[in-house]
Amino acid sequence: MSLYVMKFGGSSVGDTERMKRVAKRIAEKQDEGHKCVVVVSAMGDTTDDLIDQAKLLNENPPAREMDMLMTTGEQISIAMLSMALHQLGREAISFTGWQAGFVTESEHGRARILDIKPARVLEALEADKIVIVAGFQGQSESGEITTLGRGGSDTTAVALAGAIKADACEIYTDVDGIYSTDPRIVKVARKLEEISYDEMLELAHLGAAVLHPRAVEYAKHSKVPLIVRSSFNYNEGTVVKEEAVMEQGVVVSGIAYDKNVARISILGVVDVPGVLAQVFGALADAKIDVDIIVQSGVMEGKADFSFTVALSDQAAAVKVLEGIRQEVPYREVTTEDGLVKISIVGAGMVSHPGVAASMFEVLSKLGVSIKMVSTSEIKVSCVIDGEKLHDAIRALHTAYNLDTEEQVSVGGPQERR
Ligand code: ADP
Ligand code: ASP
Ligand code: MG
Repeated sequence: MSLYVMKFGGSSVGDTERMKRVAKRIAEKQDEGHKCVVVVSAMGDTTDDLIDQAKLLNENPPAREMDMLMTTGEQISIAMLSMALHQLGREAISFTGWQAGFVTESEHGRARILDIKPARVLEALEADKIVIVAGFQGQSESGEITTLGRGGSDTTAVALAGAIKADACEIYTDVDGIYSTDPRIVKVARKLEEISYDEMLELAHLGAAVLHPRAVEYAKHSKVPLIVRSSFNYNEGTVVKEEAVMEQGVVVSGIAYDKNVARISILGVVDVPGVLAQVFGALADAKIDVDIIVQSGVMEGKADFSFTVALSDQAAAVKVLEGIRQEVPYREVTTEDGLVKISIVGAGMVSHPGVAASMFEVLSKLGVSIKMVSTSEIKVSCVIDGEKLHDAIRALHTAYNLDTEEQVSVGGPQERR
């Protein structure tokens, strides 16, 4: 007998029919003799719909109330899935994040997990129940309801799997596993049998929505075997592990993109030591993550520099810069959106020089101008115009020999989005 954590994403529980199918799938796992803890997301696009409704009431809703609202989505799912399992004659019990013992930071909207006290989960398992836990939510030490960031149900599942020492964590979604790139954009994307934690971590951080980055961090740390597979069929999924077998000669394993990018430029800043520390210190104090930073020419003691932030942080970042104008005089601040960051990732890059150059060449042949670049040992990222995204991904996918013969099918019987 093994202990499984099975996580079902929004599309897998999009309506009551899908919910019934998921219940059947869990019952089958139990019939194979396993114990099951199930983590579930809000149904379909519920979270997006709740956010849209909140915005109709208040352009800038209080973060605490947003968490209060968004966590209702997962609560609906856990109760309904438990009911569907009872209908199949199974003993199931649903728990909210706080009932399952998730203690988080107090940062609303992007709280990190501080501790998991899974006593109730273990007790229910001991009583041979199927345990259903709401993803994406927790409670701060002062008793406030929090969320873990969009897509955070993956993190709930993997962190819980570590805390209860599960034998495996399976992430069930609407594609058959992890692909060389988003199969919605490239129909001839290649399904990966396995991928290393480090490569997946890069891909997830660089925008591959299939796994939440923190989920991969937890898996890497706890070493719980992590499998991504479809809830719509029984195909083998992708295993995320320490050492994935690398095909001979493969330089790039995956391509990711991130549309949540805005560029901010500060022009004509007095170029004295400590300026960068002041600017980025102020942004860090406001909890704004800065990604790529580029300083361009210095002229007559004045410098220009640009950096990227999440689109959702753009307005807040500009406000911070306006707030420090006294201490850090500059001529003007400009912003640019409609951009995307496109990234190639591969452990094989370490031993292959010239990968960045080949990426630039592919993009230049398409007439795509590269606005910013950043590299690490196993990735190269370029910020480009959003309109060129699909062409750029397809061209890079072909250039790095990732295309397959087969066409990927995405989603279940009824395609969403
Ligand atoms: P869920 O609702 O199950 O959490 P998500 O929409 O969060 O599902 O993640 C699955 C989606 O991730 C897929 O439908 C696919 O469009 C997208 N995706 C992006 N990059 C990849 C990739 N490299 N491999 C597989 N799917 C990817
Ligand atoms: N429902 C949340 C979201 O849409 C969490 C998740 O699905 O993982 O972001
Ligand atoms: Mg997801």
